[in-house]
Order: sequence, then C-alpha cells, then structure tokens
Amino acid sequence: MTKCKETKKMAKPKILIIYTGGTIGMGMDPMTGVLEPLDFNHLVSSMPEFKLIQAEIDVRKFDPPIDSSDMDPMRWAEIVSMISNNYNNYDGFVILHGTDTMAYTSSALSFMLENLTKPVILTGSQLPIGELRTDGKENLMTAIEIASAKNAEGRPMVPEVCIFFNGKLIRGNRAIKINAEGFHAFESFNYPHLCDVGINFQYHDHHILTPDYRKPMVPHLKLDPNVIVFSLFPGIQDNIVRHVMESPDLRGIVMRTFGSGNAPHTPWIMRLLDQAAHRGVNIVNISQCLTGSVEMERYGAGFQLKAAHVISGYDSTVEAMVTKMMYLQGRYADNKKVREKLTESLAGEISISVSYTHLRAHETELH
Ligand code: ASP
Repeated sequence: MTKCKETKKMAKPKILIIYTGGTIGMGMDPMTGVLEPLDFNHLVSSMPEFKLIQAEIDVRKFDPPIDSSDMDPMRWAEIVSMISNNYNNYDGFVILHGTDTMAYTSSALSFMLENLTKPVILTGSQLPIGELRTDGKENLMTAIEIASAKNAEGRPMVPEVCIFFNGKLIRGNRAIKINAEGFHAFESFNYPHLCDVGINFQYHDHHILTPDYRKPMVPHLKLDPNVIVFSLFPGIQDNIVRHVMESPDLRGIVMRTFGSGNAPHTPWIMRLLDQAAHRGVNIVNISQCLTGSVEMERYGAGFQLKAAHVISGYDSTVEAMVTKMMYLQGRYADNKKVREKLTESLAGEISISVSYTHLRAHETELH
C-alpha cells in the first residue's frame, strides 16, 4: 500500500474535465421545483475554490448537459472520442456524470479504452454543487487530485477507469450504485477499493491494473446494444419470456439467477435457453446476489443451465456484463468469438476461478 500525504507535483498536471451533466451541476427550476441540468459556468460560479486547484484544467462539455438517465452508447462513443482526441495532451481525465447510470458508463469506458495508460475518473454528487451541504466539491477536488497523482517512476498512480465517490476509489467495472439517498452512493462488492481517501491517500497498488506502457491506448467506438437483461423470479411465465428470447435481433442475454447461479427446474426454461443458444445467442449467468460468484457446478439447479449452454458470468456486475456484451458484439460479428471473449477478464471486471474461501477473504478486507 502506498500512503502519500499530498500528491507531489513537479510541473502542474494537465487535466481534462468532461462535463456530461448530473446532479452535481443541477439547479432547481423555479416553476416546477424539479432539478434540471445547468451549464458548466453555473458549476464553476457555485464553486470559487475551482480557481485554487493545483492543476491546469481544460473543459469539454455535453451541450446540453444531460440527466444520466439519458446516457446511451452514442454518448459513450462521444466521451471515448473526447478522451482519445486529447489523450497525449493531458495527464488524466475527470468525467462529471449523474450517479444513476455512472456504473454503466464507467464499465463501458473500461472496455472501450483498451490498454488505458492514464487515469479516467468519474465522479458526481448526491447534492448539487451550489448547495451548502454538497458532496460535489470534495468529490470533484479529490477526483482531480487522483487523476493527477504519479508514482515515484512518474507513472500515473491509477491508470484505470474508476469511480471516485465519498472517499472511495472503485474500479469502474466493479461499481454498483447502492444508495439513492446517502452520500455513500457506490460500492464494489467483489473487488477491493483501489484507494481510500481520508487525511491521506491510501492507494492499494497491488489491486491496481498495470497496462503495457510500450503499447498505445486503443479506442473502440462501435457498440452493438442488441442485448437484454432479465431476472428470474418464482412464477416466471413461459409466454412472456419466449417473446424476448425469440426476438430476431437479440445477440446476448444477461440472465439474473438465484444464489450461486441457479434456476427453477422448469422444462420450458431449459428448452428456451437451449434453443436460443443454438441460434447463437449468448446467455450469461449473473447472480441476483451482490456479493459472490456464479458456480454452476454447485447445485443441480445451476448445473442444468450449464447443460443448456449458459455461460458463467463469474462475479461480474450486471452493468459490466451488459456493456461488455455490447462492446464485444460491436467488435466481433461472430457470436462464437463473442462467447469466447465473454469468459475472459478484459479489464479486471471478473475474478476467474474464485473460490468461496478467497471471496470471504475479500469480504473481510472490504468491510
Ligand atoms: N438523476 C441524476 C443523474 O443521474 C442523479 C444524480 O446525478 O445523482 O443524472
């Protein structure tokens, strides 16, 4: 673990802020009383400390800024283009984003920015930056510090796509939004934090990815969003699920199962899954539990899914698996190639061969 009191800076680091919208920059519409995204000038004027930041800051903006409920694959490609077109001119990137879909965006970017060698830190807030008790100031200031931080060799401390929120730095494709009310809005249940920030920055180096610095970062802009997420529940109906599974454009299904990856012993489910798999649709098994991994060999109720050609999603989040499918489907026309890549860890999003003992050790470390 590296502990540093303050980021040591030789020359002023250069940071590009990409402002997409979200609560951090919102203000109240006087007519309706609802929060609406405002432009970046409003955010800066609500935060006089902005001028004191020890980094050279440039800003790119979404025009107009959006509530993150409107985020989509085209806008992810726009963010990736902004980063790749400016990649060599900056030490790091900070993305201001609404919290609602932040974990989807951070997951998508982790795949779309292959061999990332610089920090891309997403943050936002639960209260607008203009409000007295806002969490936005601390989140933004610290995200900029993390994006600027270098190690003794002059390499970035965190060359990854991450979410920084409420003192925790979390790998982007491991994050889940867990709270719509409290300031502790994000958590990572199956992977340790990358940095814990209090008075000091405690970087957990051994959990941070090391890219190949000799190779370039490769941006990928094309996604194929023909995927669906569906959750099993007791009483699920054949006629309804059939319509989804037989949809002609469908290429990938994220199936949210029970416990360690189990499904009811209902013949129609197995038949539908098997037929979809034979048409080339990739079906990935993700548990409805937030902590732990899918183990289809553990119970008969899981083993039958394996026999129906369902693929293990290991300990992936739904957000990571949905965006990984979109990315792989955009990259490969052949569903077999997509299937092969789905079971690989592309950007640290799954822990392959996790045993329960190992996971329990993680849990103790995390909480
Ligand atoms: N609805 C807002 C958004 O996601 C919530 C937030 O930013 O916290 O844009």
